[in-house]
Amino acid sequence: MKVNATTSTSLHWIGILVIVALWRPALSQDTFVAITPEEVPQYRFNLSRYFFPSLEAEKRERTNLLTTLKELEAFKGKVALSPDNLLRVLELSDSLQVQFHKHSDYLYLRWAINTQDGESLKEGKAIGAEVAKRTSFVHKELKGITDRTLTECIAQKPQLEFYRFVIEQEIRYDAHAMPLAEQELTHDLAPFITDWQYTLHEDLLARTQYGTVHTSEGDLDVYKQRTVIDNHPDRTVREAAFKKLYNGFASQRDLQAFVLVRLASARNHLARLHHYEDAASESYFHRYWTKTEISDLLERVEKQADIYKRYQHIRANYVKKISGYQTVNIWDMSVRPVGSPSPRFTIDQARNTIHEALKPLGPMYELELTQLLDPANGRLDIVPGDNRRSGGFSSGFVGETSTFFSSSFAGSYNEARILAHESTHAVQRQLMNNNGVLPVYFGGPLWESFAMFSELLWADYLSQNEADPIRKQYFQEQFFEGKGMIMFVAGPEAVLEQAVYEGVKRGEINNADDLDTLTKRVYSQFSIWPQKHEELKSQWIDIPLMYEDPFYDLNYVYGGALALKYYQLYLLSPKKFVRDYIALMANGSNARPDILLKKFLDIDLHDPRLVSDAVSVLEAKLKLLEAGYSN
Ligand SMILES: [Zn+2]
Repeated sequence: MKVNATTSTSLHWIGILVIVALWRPALSQDTFVAITPEEVPQYRFNLSRYFFPSLEAEKRERTNLLTTLKELEAFKGKVALSPDNLLRVLELSDSLQVQFHKHSDYLYLRWAINTQDGESLKEGKAIGAEVAKRTSFVHKELKGITDRTLTECIAQKPQLEFYRFVIEQEIRYDAHAMPLAEQELTHDLAPFITDWQYTLHEDLLARTQYGTVHTSEGDLDVYKQRTVIDNHPDRTVREAAFKKLYNGFASQRDLQAFVLVRLASARNHLARLHHYEDAASESYFHRYWTKTEISDLLERVEKQADIYKRYQHIRANYVKKISGYQTVNIWDMSVRPVGSPSPRFTIDQARNTIHEALKPLGPMYELELTQLLDPANGRLDIVPGDNRRSGGFSSGFVGETSTFFSSSFAGSYNEARILAHESTHAVQRQLMNNNGVLPVYFGGPLWESFAMFSELLWADYLSQNEADPIRKQYFQEQFFEGKGMIMFVAGPEAVLEQAVYEGVKRGEINNADDLDTLTKRVYSQFSIWPQKHEELKSQWIDIPLMYEDPFYDLNYVYGGALALKYYQLYLLSPKKFVRDYIALMANGSNARPDILLKKFLDIDLHDPRLVSDAVSVLEAKLKLLEAGYSN
């Protein structure tokens, strides 16, 4: 899910988890205790401290929100009538966002810790829909402002300068606005145009008969217990499951192709109604990119993908060495050295190592991180249990203390990594809050790159502070698996997605055979496995974000390159980098991302060297890994 000024929870993580399912959890019957029974009560949210004393109080306070909404509605048709009106409308919109988030985040968190509380989820969504519907006139009227009017308004009312960027963004969309009647019609028809494909895709996945694999511990469900199977010590189990899984995907390929082709076609048509060349161009426009720039970026990533293939070869050879297998297959990549299981973390170890790894980011960062991670503050809710939302996310907004939720912290590397990632979002929210960032500028397109950088620092810290050589190696691998190689994992997804939309537009992509051929061609540029395992041509069915949130994968491509760039600058000149980096995090998104990167870190987002610099960081790390493997 996108994270923008109006979305405070970062849920997109679920998607990327599926994509980067390279880490595998240990088998279930272990005795490791991540959170002791005595600690359990501490790791629950204290919602009454940060939100409302009770659900009744939350309901009562909704009247304040409605009052603000009515006050705002009084400006309907008069938003840009005077500089005073304009300023007042923008301030009221901001207040409304703050009030709305307090209610919706509270209701969402209540549901996350108890998914039986469907009423809270429903009410939160209903408030969101109401606010969006009744404030749509603001966007419409802001779009109608000319550059000249804006300049005049700012001259008369200098406080409007703070809102310049957000108004400019509305104006920017003016060329893509549709007449009101058409707009309303497409809005009403949306469920039939673009909203059914993801649901159908999910339904098809859910009804597929993937089957089970037989193991000494009983039968395992190929789809539902996918991660457990991937890590299974019995090689024949892993192989059988891989084949059954892809057979399952293939069994619905005709309908899955129907879904994807219709999705691309519908979105291309809608984009053209909005005067964009196609859906890709529209999506890139939202993030201040042009299609040419993205095509160039993806081409550069593709050209550098040899480093990823080399990494895959090095890993495969290492697995061969420790397992004694004649040939290594994709289902063997989870094999660990005998007697050295994947490291686990107690919650204290996770908190302490994340704290130590990110401490170099300076006292302001450290203070916010410490407060978030201190269980006494009731900002973490991570104890496994029934009826909890899946995955992990952080939440927070202007004037709202940020929190972190995880469906279950049981001590795996992945669970601790999610904490490292999401804690960055939570800390950034606090930094922006301390800096007085306006609600309209909360978040922004650089958001993910910061969290990925934290993941790199954490993996780095763990490998550097580990005495045991095998565990050290594991953490070195996690530098790549975590986010170091994300450009090359999300890269083919972004390339494939763009190619699907182009192909559909030209009438060249019509069915599952076309998608298989395209998928194999694209993925072969990025990975060593498609040539070896014919099944992987069905991978287009297994890219959740392509159906759920089209073109979102792209964020992980340039976000991953940026995270490595931060890492390079950090090593080069830690003091200077940290000062500028924290200033950037605390700044909020009151300008285009390329402008902010240039201003704060002197990074040129469109410089071709962004990708090659990132690759040089990976080269150096890969040499270390290779050296470790050859010992
Ligand atoms: Zn994130």
